[in-house]
Amino acid sequence: MSLGRTAKLNTGASIPLFGLGTWQSKPDVVKNAVKVALNAGYRHIDAAWIYGNEKEVGEAIRESNIPREQLFITTKLWNNSHRSEDVLPALEASLKNLGLDYVDLYLMHWPVAFKSGPAAVARDDAGNLIFEDVDITATYQAMEKLVETGKTKAIGVSNYSIKNLEKILSIAKIVPAANQVELHPENPQWELLQFCKDKGIHITAYSPLGSTDSPLIKRDEISKIAAKHNTNNANVLIAWGQQRGTSVIPKSVTDSRIIANFKDIELDQEDLAALKSLIDGKAPHRYCDPKDFWGIEIFN
Ligand code: NAP
Repeated sequence: MSLGRTAKLNTGASIPLFGLGTWQSKPDVVKNAVKVALNAGYRHIDAAWIYGNEKEVGEAIRESNIPREQLFITTKLWNNSHRSEDVLPALEASLKNLGLDYVDLYLMHWPVAFKSGPAAVARDDAGNLIFEDVDITATYQAMEKLVETGKTKAIGVSNYSIKNLEKILSIAKIVPAANQVELHPENPQWELLQFCKDKGIHITAYSPLGSTDSPLIKRDEISKIAAKHNTNNANVLIAWGQQRGTSVIPKSVTDSRIIANFKDIELDQEDLAALKSLIDGKAPHRYCDPKDFWGIEIFN
């Protein structure tokens, strides 16, 4: 069985380009999804504390009996744990949920700090978000200390623009191993991709299919390329990301889709040009933008 393509992180470790996303995968179905994925050949699982399903993800991983060193497990530090003293306990809580001794990659989920405490998203009586006055550089420095504990093999960031990466790089003793961001043909972020490549930061593409109920995956241009390669539309979007050297972490809780998504296809120049033309004359489009759910600007 092919286990798919991999890339090298700046730590020297390999990261599989195929991964399974688990956001919005309900706890009662995610265990089956992770099991099906591991059985199909996936070796990279993308988790996060905020997804509320690390426990079930971990059960599936442990029950698979795949040797731990053959797996690549990512999880993420939530926004309510950005104070330096909250960072190690947050990783330990995720490890406890997952039932693992270490993760392969621990990411700062967003470059924004919410009030520290039990509420994941603290709000005042008027419904406004309550922020914590912690700079992303302080949080990152606390994350650097995690590496020597052995509880994560690598650290990185998520939802980082070039500007925020430059800020981190100006103080970093450890260059982030990865930046996980929204990438698909409607939001290709070529400049960010090149910047990360130049700095040795691997990119993982989230929402590669355009997220839940996306019009992207149904577009005629994608269907035409899929028909030409005798495959499904998701494979076209996944291949687009992998051919740019990024890991791609499509989420599904549907057995047949999880299995079908794990397939290498090779897009040619004509396909790539057709995918590039999807946003000709249009602004890039994000399906996951905090402007829509928190009312805050993260990317500009
Ligand atoms: P996505 O993977 O782009 O799309 C998921 C949707 O596509 C689901 O509704 C899924 O449905 C459907 N789907 C999967 N395979 C399909 C196929 N072959 N044909 C048709 N539909 C298919 O969206 P996402 O969940 O937003 O992103 C993927 C992962 O990236 C997340 O799960 C999470 O791990 C990560 N992520 C990270 C961040 C971050 O801030 N770092 C943000 C967003 C996402 P079913 O499940 O019903 O099959």
